[in-house]
Amino acid sequence: MSETHEAQAHKFGTVAIIGRPNVGKSSVLNAVLGEHLSITSAKPQTTRHRILGVVTQPAFQIAFADTPGFQTKHVGAMNRVMNRTVTQSITGVEAAVLVLEAGRYGAADKQVAALLPPDLPLIVCINKCDMSDNVHELLPFVQRLAAELPATAYVPVSAKKNQGMQPLLDAIAAQLPVAPAVFDADTLTDRSERFLAAERIREKLFRLVGDEIPFGSAVEIEKWEDEVSQDRSQNGAVGLKRIFAAIWVEREGHKTIVLGNKGERVKRIATESRMELEGLLQCKIYLEVWVKVRSNWRENSATLKSLGIDA
Ligand code: GDP
Ligand code: MG
Repeated sequence: MSETHEAQAHKFGTVAIIGRPNVGKSSVLNAVLGEHLSITSAKPQTTRHRILGVVTQPAFQIAFADTPGFQTKHVGAMNRVMNRTVTQSITGVEAAVLVLEAGRYGAADKQVAALLPPDLPLIVCINKCDMSDNVHELLPFVQRLAAELPATAYVPVSAKKNQGMQPLLDAIAAQLPVAPAVFDADTLTDRSERFLAAERIREKLFRLVGDEIPFGSAVEIEKWEDEVSQDRSQNGAVGLKRIFAAIWVEREGHKTIVLGNKGERVKRIATESRMELEGLLQCKIYLEVWVKVRSNWRENSATLKSLGIDA
């Protein structure tokens, strides 16, 4: 009996997901969470917040910190920001997951890897394995990596196809200290529902407005009402959430872009966000999204704070 107790000692730890832009950090986080919690997009800088997602299984609980996004336009600035971002996100974690693209271990990947302290347990997550037709290319790649980059595990995955996530979680848990769970078993994230709603709308904005996206737009939840069900069988459960959101843009011209022809675009943003939120929050949702113009809001840090963006 005592050995099984020993073998099954519960693990807990906080883990950083790091890697150069576009390797699929947000996608991997979403896939392990089994939910769509942080923004993924072809645009590297869409994740504005540090998102903590929690995976709870009988043997372990893993708290994930996603690396905030950063811009890639100015190489010098990018390197500085990337270094700082990685260094910040690995501070105080028990392990790091370095995400790479299958078959690629380039200069930017090496730069990120070089920031890792040698005593921090490292799990290498080889993502986008769905892109290579030839699975036989994977083994030599892993062998080459192992010679250059010591890690506790090299786990091939495809975040897109949701493959390899359990082996990834097991490899992470193996490196975590024995400790009790910190979060409730049903915790997916420590972010509020408001935050999740704003993130969802922001992602739809990025997806549906695409390359025309006005830089400096932001989403704010202006009002949130939980309507408790009158149905007694529901025992006071929330029956409907009324969410009033604003998409803030800097100019009238930007507003026209986001609205789309006869407001079709913003309508689609609202409809798609509402449907996903109903699935995520498990209740009926009434969602109104308005596009509003506030000039120079980005220069005003009080405004940034009210929008939940770190200035
Ligand atoms: P991040 O910048 O590292 O957070 O990367 P994202 O998660 O935003 O992903 C960047 C791009 O890679 C997006 O276009 C994703 O759809 C794509 N991507 C992510 N994971 C996979 C995968 O497993 N396979 C393929 N084919 N594409 C992926
Ligand atoms: Mg990302």
